[in-house]
Amino acid sequence: MKMKEIKLLDLQAAYAKHRKEIDERIGRVLNHAAFVLGPEVLELEKALAAFTGVRHVVTCSSGTDALLMALMAKGVGPGDAVFTTPFTFIASAEVIARLGARPVFVDIDPVTKNIDPAWLKEKIKEIESQGKFKPRAVIPVDLFGLPADYENINRIAAENGLFVLEDAAQSFGASSGNRRAGALAEIAATSFFPAKPLGCFGDGGAIFTDDENLQKLLLSIRVHGQGETKYDNIRLGLTGRLDTIQAAILLVRLKALPEELESRRRIAAMYDKALKGVVEIPVVPEGYASAWAQYSIESPCRQAILDVFKQENIPCAVYYTKPLHLQKVFADLGHREGDFPGAEASAQRILSLPMHPYLTDEQVHYVADTLVRAVERAGSGSRQ
Ligand SMILES: *Cc1c(COP(=O)(O)O)cnc(C)c1O
Repeated sequence: MKMKEIKLLDLQAAYAKHRKEIDERIGRVLNHAAFVLGPEVLELEKALAAFTGVRHVVTCSSGTDALLMALMAKGVGPGDAVFTTPFTFIASAEVIARLGARPVFVDIDPVTKNIDPAWLKEKIKEIESQGKFKPRAVIPVDLFGLPADYENINRIAAENGLFVLEDAAQSFGASSGNRRAGALAEIAATSFFPAKPLGCFGDGGAIFTDDENLQKLLLSIRVHGQGETKYDNIRLGLTGRLDTIQAAILLVRLKALPEELESRRRIAAMYDKALKGVVEIPVVPEGYASAWAQYSIESPCRQAILDVFKQENIPCAVYYTKPLHLQKVFADLGHREGDFPGAEASAQRILSLPMHPYLTDEQVHYVADTLVRAVERAGSGSRQ
C-alpha cells in the first residue's frame, strides 16, 4: 500500500478528528450570532487561564498583536531599548520598532537556540553605558516550542529594572519546571496561527498576566482604548479582538491539546533515536518540556538533505534563513555579518522536519531513513 502524503502540518486531519464537536460549536455561534466578543471568547479565556495557571488571559487578533498590546500596555515607546533574539520570526522585533522603541539583539545559546542570558547581561550594560536608550524590557522567544532560560532571564531583568515579555507563540503547552509556557514571565504572548501548537483555523492570539491592572489596560487597548464605554476613548488602542468563531474552534482544539502534545513528543523521540549521531538533534535541557512546534536539526550537509527531500517529496522548512539583524527592514540598526555568530551559524545549518500530531510511525521512519541516507551520501561524496 502506498504511504499517505507527508505534510509539514495537517489541519485537515486535526479537523477530521474533532469534526462533530467543531461543527457543533461553530453552529452554536452562527445561531446566537454574537460574532464579536461572544460568550465563547470569555469561556476560552477562562479555559486558557486554567490550563496555564495564569490569573488573567486576554485573547486577541494574532500573536503579533498580543506582543504589540503587551508592549503598549507597558507604555513602551521612543527612547526605550527592548532586548530580543535575532533568531526568530520577524514579529518578535517588529512590534518593538513599530512602537518607535529600539530593538536590541542578543545572540542565542547555540545549544537551545534561545537567548543567551550571559549576552543579555552584557548588552544591558552596554546600552546603559551608551546612555542613548533606556533598557526597558526583554522579549525572550521560546523557539520551536522550547522555553527560554527564564530563571536567569527574569533574574537579570529584575536586577536591571526591566520587565520580561515571554514570546510563547511557538511554545503553548510547553513547560519549564512546574510552570507552563505563558506563565514564565510577568507577561506572555502566544499565537493561535494554524501552524502553532495550539492553532485555530485563522488568526488569533492571547496575552497572559497575573497583574490585574495590566489586564484592564489590555482590555481597553483591545477595543480602541475604550474607557467606561466603547465611545469613551481614553488612550490609543487597536481593533485587537479574537473572532468568536475562532474562540469556539479553540475550545475544542484546547481539549485535544494534551493528546496532540503527547503525539508530538512521541514523534520527536522517534526522530531522536533515528537521527542521533547523524545530525545535531534538538536538545531539551533537564526540567523542560518542549511543545515541539518544530523538530529542527542542524547539519553542515543541509543542502544535500534538501535536495534528497525534494526528490522524495518530503516537505521541510528552514526557520530562519536570515537572522533579523541582517534583514533589510532593520538596516538602520547598522548590523553586519558576524555580529551574532550563534544565530548566523544556525541560519546556515538548521532544518525543520515534518512535525504534527497526525504523522504515522511509517511516515516518521521514512523521513528519518531518507535523511540518514542523504547524510551518508553527502559524507561519502565529500571524501572523494
Ligand atoms: C508566529 C509567531 C509570532 C506571530 O504570531 P502571529 O499570530 O502570526 O501574528 C510571533 N513570534 C513568534 C516567535 C512566532 O513564531
